[in-house]
This record gives sequence, C-alpha cells and structure tokens, in this order.
Amino acid sequence: MKTGARDAKSRKKANYSHTSKAIVPTADALIIGGGAIGICCAHYLSALGKKVLVVEKNEICSGSSYGNAGLIVPSYSIPMAAPGVVLQGLKWMFDPQSPLYIKPRLNRQLLAWLWRFRGACNPHHVQRSVPVLRDLHTASLKLFEALANLDGMNFALEKKGILELFNTPKGLEDGRKDIRLIKDYGIENRLVPKNKLKEYLGGI
Ligand SMILES: Cc1cc2nc3c(=O)[nH]c(=O)nc-3n(C[C@H](O)[C@H](O)[C@H](O)COP(=O)(O)OP(=O)(O)OC[C@H]3O[C@@H](n4cnc5c(N)ncnc54)[C@H](O)[C@@H]3O)c2cc1C
Repeated sequence: MKTGARDAKSRKKANYSHTSKAIVPTADALIIGGGAIGICCAHYLSALGKKVLVVEKNEICSGSSYGNAGLIVPSYSIPMAAPGVVLQGLKWMFDPQSPLYIKPRLNRQLLAWLWRFRGACNPHHVQRSVPVLRDLHTASLKLFEALANLDGMNFALEKKGILELFNTPKGLEDGRKDIRLIKDYGIENRLVPKNKLKEYLGGI
C-alpha cells in the first residue's frame, strides 16, 4: 500500500507521466490525484494502451497513500459504520490520535455526511457490507500479488496473517462478536487462548 514518491522508475516503466504542467490535450484519460487510487487507475489504463495524464498537486502518493498502515486484510471486512460506533465515534472525533478523527468544524457537507454515517450504524448495513468488503479485499489481495510481481516494482508485500490482542474483557467480548460475524461469511480466523499464545507464536 505504501508506494511512496520513490517509485519514479516504476512509473516510467508503466508508461504514465507525472507532471504539473499544462494538460496535454492528446491524453485519453486525465486523472486528478496521484494517490494509490489514481496511480492504480493510471497503471491499469496504461496497460490497456491508453495515454494517461496524472495531475497531482503535491508529491505522488504523499497523502493517505503514504501514511497508512499498509494492511490488506479480508478479516477487516466489518464496516466502520456499525452498531455502537455512534457513541464511540463521538468520542473518537475529538481525539486526534483516534481512528476516526475529524477536525471539528461547522460545515454543511460534513454534517450531512455524519448524519448519513449515523444512519448506517445498524445491523442491516453491517450484514449488507461485510460480503461486499470481503470480496473487495480478496480481489485486491490478488491484484497486490500481481503488482508485486511486476518488473521493477519493489514493495514489501508480506503474508503473515494478523494477530489482534485484547487487553480488556470488553475488548475480548467485542472481538469474539466480530469473529462470529466474519466466520459466517467464510473469513478464516481463530481465537487463541492466552496460555496457548507462546506455542502459537513459536515461542516468541
Ligand atoms: C492513518 C491511516 C491508516 C490507513 N490504513 C490503511 C490500511 O491499513 N489498509 C488500507 O487498505 N487502507 C488504509 N488506509 C486508507 C488508505 O490509505 C486510503 O484509502 C487510500 O490511500 C486512498 O487513496 P486515494 O488515492 O483515494 O487518496 P490519497 O492517497 O489521499 O490521494 C489523493 C491525492 O490527490 C491529490 N489531490 C487532491 N486534490 C487535488 C487536486 N485538486 N489536484 C491535484 N491533486 C489533488 C492529493 O495531493 C493526494 O495525493 C489508511 C488511511 C489512514 C489515513
């Protein structure tokens, strides 16, 4: 996920340009924003033989695509908008270190979005979203594998699974609920009791 600005060589190989000059009128596709999404669109369009122009106001992949956790995990297929998240979200919104920090401001669009987010925090939305997210994550995992094998591409793709540790009974109970939910959608996971952890991690 963290492609970074250092991949100028890969961009050259993939045959798309990075420029801040005037738009070249002969491009088949104009992509505004050179984050992971824009660059992937550019890559796949370019692979189809299209001439692509990417316009980026800063450095390529210097936004969210630079500062993320780099996780591509189907087990994270439970949407952010879920029951109980409204209260939690309100607390998170004012904490810059939280996963859902939104700079507080009086903005109509933001308020409308928050209202819709609140409306989506229900079991029906979760049931509808999990299979969609699972399929998206599974498909993107395959694409990442293909991208990692491209000539000149150099990013550390690792497949080690993910281990979550819970240090409160409430956290563990929430974790158990999540496990039950995603298991219903065929996402493999396992609950490891504390006394088996050392054995499970190979003595670490
Ligand atoms: C802290 C954090 C952790 C995350 N962890 C994960 C994770 O583990 N796994 C995961 O899958 N996802 C994760 N994400 C989400 C993921 O990083 C984003 O979904 C993804 O990077 C979005 O890519 P993007 O191309 O849409 O946006 P960006 O990477 O933000 O790219 C948008 C680009 O558009 C440019 N731009 C904006 N306006 C203009 C304009 N008018 N003209 C020209 N250029 C413009 C910006 O400069 C920017 O470079 C995380 C996000 C954050 C913030």
